[in-house]
Order: sequence, then C-alpha cells, then structure tokens
Amino acid sequence: MLFPNSNKVKASDYDSLLLTYLGWNDVRSKRRYFVYPMDDTLVGVEGAYMIHTQPATCALCGCLGQVAHVTKKAVNQESDYHTLGNYMCVDNQQCNAQLTDPHALEQ
Ligand SMILES: [Zn+2]
Repeated sequence: MLFPNSNKVKASDYDSLLLTYLGWNDVRSKRRYFVYPMDDTLVGVEGAYMIHTQPATCALCGCLGQVAHVTKKAVNQESDYHTLGNYMCVDNQQCNAQLTDPHALEQ
C-alpha cells in the first residue's frame, strides 16, 4: 500500500486510466498525492500544497497557469525518499493532458 493513511490505490486502478500520472488533492489536509509507474512498479509521492496566488509555470507540464506550491516527499519500496518544492498545476486533469513525460515527476 503506497499511502497507509489515505485512499487505497492498486495497480489495477492505474491501468484503467490513460494518464501519465494519477494525482489528487486532499483539500482538508492540504496534501497532494501522485502515483506513477516507474520501472514496472508504482511510485507514490505525497506532498503538502499551498495554492499560489499568481500564475506560474508548472514544473511537470511546463505550462503557465494556476499552480500550487507542492512540497513533496517521494516514497518507494527501498524507503528512499527526498523532499523538494515545486509549482504544479492545481488541476490534475489539465496537467495530465499537457504532460507527456512521466520523468518530469522524478525531479
Ligand atoms: Zn502542469
């Protein structure tokens, strides 16, 4: 389970989606979650986000728009993790539509 304290995500759920990544915002806890496939496994990233008042360039899709500043922590099976902050689209669906390279999520 990628996020023991949150929604359950299974690989089969991901396969049914034609998206570069799966992302959702938890408005109440101000956290954003990402799941994307990497080397045949699913990688989960969770981060705290704050809506940014000015339009800025999204770190994932490179488009200018309404963004949130996301401070994320990557988690995987090796319990290897890193933290960093990035501006990312508030609208996950729109970002997915504009994003073609999932490696942008590794930054
Ligand atoms: Zn974006």
